[in-house]
Amino acid sequence: MENGQARAMQEALLRWYEENRRELPWREDPTPYHVWLSEIMLQQTRVEAVKAYYRRFLAAFPDIVSLAGASEDEYLKLWEGLGYYRRVRNLHKAAGIVTERYGGRLPASYAELRALPGIGAYTAAAIASIAFGIPQPAVDGNLLRVFARVICHEEAIETSASGKAAETWFRERMPDDAPGDFNQALMDLGATVCLPNGAPRCTVCPWQTSCLSYRNGIAERYPLRAEKKPRKREARTVFLLTQGDAIYLRRRPQKGLLAGMWEFPNTEGHLSPAEAKAFLAKQGMEVGEPEALPSAVHTFTHCVWEMTAYRVEVKERERTAGSEELVSAARAELEASYAIPSAFAAYRALL
Ligand code: SF4
Repeated sequence: MENGQARAMQEALLRWYEENRRELPWREDPTPYHVWLSEIMLQQTRVEAVKAYYRRFLAAFPDIVSLAGASEDEYLKLWEGLGYYRRVRNLHKAAGIVTERYGGRLPASYAELRALPGIGAYTAAAIASIAFGIPQPAVDGNLLRVFARVICHEEAIETSASGKAAETWFRERMPDDAPGDFNQALMDLGATVCLPNGAPRCTVCPWQTSCLSYRNGIAERYPLRAEKKPRKREARTVFLLTQGDAIYLRRRPQKGLLAGMWEFPNTEGHLSPAEAKAFLAKQGMEVGEPEALPSAVHTFTHCVWEMTAYRVEVKERERTAGSEELVSAARAELEASYAIPSAFAAYRALL
C-alpha cells in the first residue's frame, strides 16, 4: 500500500473517531492506573457490564498504593460477578510491585509494563499508547478482525504470524503524535462498525474505500478462524447446606480455577438423593431429605460445568477425619463478606 493511502486511512479513522467516539468512564481521566484497570476489566467482559464495577473499584481503591494495601477478601468482593478472577489477583500483585519498585506510578515504558503480572502485549500497548503516548499498536480480537477484513488476510487470525502481521500493518498506519487515539478509534470501530458477529456496517465505515473485502463483497468471509477444541464437560452436584439461618461455604484452593473464591460445597458427578445423603454422611453430617433444585450450566474458558443441586438442612455436623473445611455464614453476611463466583449464581438466587 502506498504511503499516501496509509496516511489517508489514518486521517479518515481519526476524523471518524472525533465524531463517533464512545463516552466511557475511563476516558474521562485516562491516567495510567485508570487505563490499566479498565483494560484488565474489559478482558472477557462487555463494556456495559464493566462500567459499574470500574466505578466501585476506583471508589474503594483510588490509586495503585491503596490497591496494593487491599486484602484478598476486599478485592475479590469488588470483582465478584466479573469472572476470570486471576485478573484481579494479578492486578493486586502488580500494584504491590509498582508501589515498591516505582513509588506507586506505572512505568512509562512498554517493556516494563509488559513485565508486570497480568499485563500482556495488548494491555501494555493500550496503557503505553493511551496514557503515555508511546506508539504501540494494541492488537486484540477487534484489530485482528478489522485487519483481516481490510486486506483479505487468508490465514487464521489466532496464529502468532497473523498477530505479528497485524501489528506491523497497524504500526505503519499509526500516527506518532496520537497513538492512543488511533488505538481507541480501532477499538471503537471494531466494537460498533466492523462487528464481530453478523454483518459489518460497511456503509458507515471510514475505511470502506480501502477495504478489500468490502470492495469484493466478501467482508463476512473474514476473519478466518482455526478450528476450536470442544470444551471439556464436567458433571457436578452442588449443595445448599443450610442450618437455621446459616449456610455452609467452602473456600476453593489458592491455585487453579476460581482460586481462593468462596463456593457452595460441591462434588464431581450427578448424585442421586440417596448418594447425596451418603456423601454428606461421610462428611460427618446428619441431614434431612435432600430437596432437588433445578439444574444449571456454567461455561468457563476451557470447561463447562453441568450442575445438579440439592438444598439440604443440616441437623448435626461432626468434624471427622474426612470432613472438609467449611464455614458457616449468616445469610445476611453473604452479600457483604463473601465473594462467590457467578458459576453459582443460579443457586445463590434460590437462597
Ligand atoms: Fe470492516 Fe466493512 Fe469497514 Fe471493511 S468496510 S473495515 S469490513 S466495516
